[in-house]
Amino acid sequence: MTEMFYDDDADLSLIQGKKVAVIGYGSQGHAHALNLRDSGVDVRIGLAEGSSSKAKAESEGLRVLSVADAVAEADLVMILTPDQVQRTVYAESIEKNLKPGNALFFAHGFNIRFGYIEAPEGVDVAMVAPKGPGHTVRREFEAGRGVPALIAVEKDASGKARELALAYAKGLGATRAGVIETTFTEETETDLFGEQAVLCGGVSQLVQYGFETLTEAGYKPEIAYFEVLHELKLIVDLMVEGGINKQRWSVSDTAEYGDYVSGPRVIDPHVKENMKEVLADIQNGNFAKRFIDDQDNGRTEFLELRAKGEGHPIEKTGRELRQLFSWLKANDDFTEGSVA
Ligand code: NAD
Ligand code: MG
Ligand code: MG
Ligand code: MG
Ligand code: MG
Repeated sequence: MTEMFYDDDADLSLIQGKKVAVIGYGSQGHAHALNLRDSGVDVRIGLAEGSSSKAKAESEGLRVLSVADAVAEADLVMILTPDQVQRTVYAESIEKNLKPGNALFFAHGFNIRFGYIEAPEGVDVAMVAPKGPGHTVRREFEAGRGVPALIAVEKDASGKARELALAYAKGLGATRAGVIETTFTEETETDLFGEQAVLCGGVSQLVQYGFETLTEAGYKPEIAYFEVLHELKLIVDLMVEGGINKQRWSVSDTAEYGDYVSGPRVIDPHVKENMKEVLADIQNGNFAKRFIDDQDNGRTEFLELRAKGEGHPIEKTGRELRQLFSWLKANDDFTEGSVA
């Protein structure tokens, strides 16, 4: 088993002794800033001019500065803007304000792994990546618990980068749950693979195909929605609690037998070959290049794909149906930022 780090393995005073700049106040940004502040850390927020997050951060009593000013007065800079804008924010406002002895922190290794950001000499480069959405990172902390996190050190200029990352993780509440050490390469490649092949890409496609198969066969869309989307959460909850095994224990023997005989017919060995190709494109940088090139090209492909996804008939059925679910608070307003 890999080593887990807990509260006793981290020295909070190391991060309490630093001036921390959190750049961005979105899903992760607000959680890092508020948890660190509540852990007795001196936090300021760096935001772009005219950012709509400014009022929100100030209403929590946080100091908001320009990115350049926040970096200039900080010892440790945590970059929590979207991955695709990090290289621009870094080049324009961060790089020239970093001094030897400073630390540059990330919550995902994308820009370091694929070479979009290169830190100057004398600056520690490390990662503290909570394994959960920012809103959960905040909610768990307030409840006296924490969300597990990964830490990694890319450049240890001070000789203290690892201890500092652990201290930061403790300030976030992550060492209450457990922290695992990894590398920027491992975190980036596995994170991208997980979200593409299984969590976001794989599951979404599976649900859409299931819905299409049932509705094309003449079944009611509302029934199809229940069977292939709504119940997914109940199944996944069981898997998280006790593995695939617990899911199989809880469902009927009919469902369990169907799982064994039909699962491998739907997700056949060819799917694993496809997954290997997806992983290869992550490892060789093709995915990163395609993503960033499209961002630089006005996000043409990204916006086209988003519109296509939103237009899938399962979305219309779901929106209508969720309004009728008295037990489930419909939440079709997605203004709070992303998860993966
Ligand atoms: P987000 O989209 O929720 O928030 C980004 C914030 O960045 C915005 O709210 C805004 O305040 C700020 N911003 C945007 N453009 C800016 C600019 N040009 N200059 C300055 N500030 C700008 O982002 P997020 O999902 O919290 O992701 C931040 C980082 O955390 C990414 O590296 C991501 O991979 C990583 N991460 C996110 C999650 C998650 O729960 N969303 C989980 C683990 C890791
Ligand atoms: Mg059923
Ligand atoms: Mg059973
Ligand atoms: Mg995201
Ligand atoms: Mg991710």
